[in-house]
Order: sequence, then C-alpha cells, then structure tokens
Amino acid sequence: MALTGTGAPATSIAMQPCPGTHTYQRESGRTRAAERAALGFATLPALFTFTVDVETHPGGAGAAAPTRRLLDLLDATGSLGTFFVLDEVVRADPTLVRDIVRHGHEVASHGHAHRHLAAEGPVAFRAGMTAARARLADVSGAPPLGYRAPYFSLTPAARWAPAILAELGFAYSSSLLPARNPLAGWPGAPLRPFHWTGGLLELPVPLGRIGPLALPFLGGMYLRWLPPWRLRALSRDWAAKADGDPLWSYCHPYDLDTAEGLVRRPDAGALGSLMLWLNRRSTLPRLQGLLRGRRSVPFAARLAEIGAQAPVWPPPA
Ligand SMILES: [Zn+2]
Repeated sequence: MALTGTGAPATSIAMQPCPGTHTYQRESGRTRAAERAALGFATLPALFTFTVDVETHPGGAGAAAPTRRLLDLLDATGSLGTFFVLDEVVRADPTLVRDIVRHGHEVASHGHAHRHLAAEGPVAFRAGMTAARARLADVSGAPPLGYRAPYFSLTPAARWAPAILAELGFAYSSSLLPARNPLAGWPGAPLRPFHWTGGLLELPVPLGRIGPLALPFLGGMYLRWLPPWRLRALSRDWAAKADGDPLWSYCHPYDLDTAEGLVRRPDAGALGSLMLWLNRRSTLPRLQGLLRGRRSVPFAARLAEIGAQAPVWPPPA
C-alpha cells in the first residue's frame, strides 16, 4: 500500500500526520511494524478467518471502542470475520452487536458467562446457553451457528458440552486447544477439524510448537509477545504441516486497549495480569500484517468445505 499521498487527493494528504511530530513517528513506526509482521506471516495461506472474542474485563474502557477499531481494520482491508460475543456484552450493548452484523461479519457466541466450562457443569451450562443463544438470535437477527468456550476451556472435564451445543442448535465450536496448556487444553485431541459424535463440528485452535510448549500463536498475548523471528518460524512450521487445514487467528478488544491501566485480574495471577497488559501497542500492526495480502472469510462461509473433510472423533467403536 502507498504510504504517502503521491497522486492521492489533496484532502487525504492534509490528513496525513506531519513528519517530525509524535503522531507521525507513531504512525510510521506502526506501518513499519505491520510490514515486518506481514513478512513473518508470508508462508501462511491467503485464505483464513479473523476471529474476535468480544468481552470486557476489569479496568478496561469496555469492549465497544476497540471492537469498532477492529471493524474499521477489517473494512479497510475488505475482510470479513467471525465475532464471538459474550452474553454480558450482548445485554449491555446490543447496538455493538448489530453494528458487527451491519458490517457483514458473522456473529457467534462466546458463552453466557466468562468461566471455565469445567467449573460450570452441564446443568448451569445448558440453562445459561439456552438464554444466551435466544438473546443473541434476537439482537443479531439470526440464531448463531458458532460457539467459542471462554479460555478454550473445552477440556476432558467438559466432554459433556458438545452434545449440549448440538442439542441447542449450534453447528460448530471453536473451543478446543489440542495440547497441554497451563490454562486449559485437551492433550491427544485432533489437531485438525473433526465432528463430535453428536454432529457438532470442532475447529481446534492452530498451534505452534516451541520445544515442549504448544502455543495458540496467532492470537491474544502470544501474537503480542512472540518476537517477529519466532512468529515467522512458527508460521513456516504450521504451513509446512497444514495440508489444507483451516487457518484462523483470534484477538480480544482488550488486546488493543492501550489506554487501560494495569489491574489485577480475578482470572489471572499477578504475572498473568501483567502479561495480559503489556505490549498492547504491537497488536494492531501485527493484525494489519496478518491481513496484508490475505483474505478473511467468516467460519460460517467455510463450514461446508471444512466439515466435508472432517472425521468423527472419538472414532466410533
Ligand atoms: Zn474470552
């Protein structure tokens, strides 16, 4: 993309930040960072799905402002994504949900409460999700097809969840981290999309390996924290093994919230809270880099193709 206004209308030149100003340095620094990030992602497929977990958290300015920045970013690159919206946000800000739909994106559910599934249990989950799904359908204008568990917490202790999601009418879930992880994971689950026996399609989060660690590198704090050379290596490794696997990224509104003060989160320790807070300025350029030369389409538009090749797991006895 052109950086300066050669041949551009005068109005857009007038809106460019002035060289030497603080804004100019910040903007051009971001552009350079986006270009560096784009190089690092060059081996990844041109088609992917940009996903957002729309949630609030203590100390933040709320989900609305950063979510709208993401809408602008996707508009500017002609991309469409999937937004998993937490019920709390649906209740507090239905206009935001409608705006996401108006921009052409898919709206899906991030659950009725931001808790680990295992801590919740099937009874509370079924009741909470029944209400949350109806509310989201009401606000967005269509019943959601997709669900993402908070913290990717579809673990062996929550193996009851896929059947309930299918029963409620969900077509797919994007809730499983198929490795050992300090927060939540299901070691031994397939790395590739599969159908649960009840029919629900599961889209496990793409992982990158660093020694014994398996990290969901294309999202959240990993995307912010990993150095560019590491992101480049993980992208190359993922692409080499992908064999047509669907690629997707994820982020949260707070990943872009640079104005937020440091708070001790109730769902993370002191170190975790610090890591979730630091380095947020790198989020936007890295997402820009990911979108450069790449097209995002919502999961809903890819389900038939992905589902056709997905086996059933666990395999029928
Ligand atoms: Zn979340």
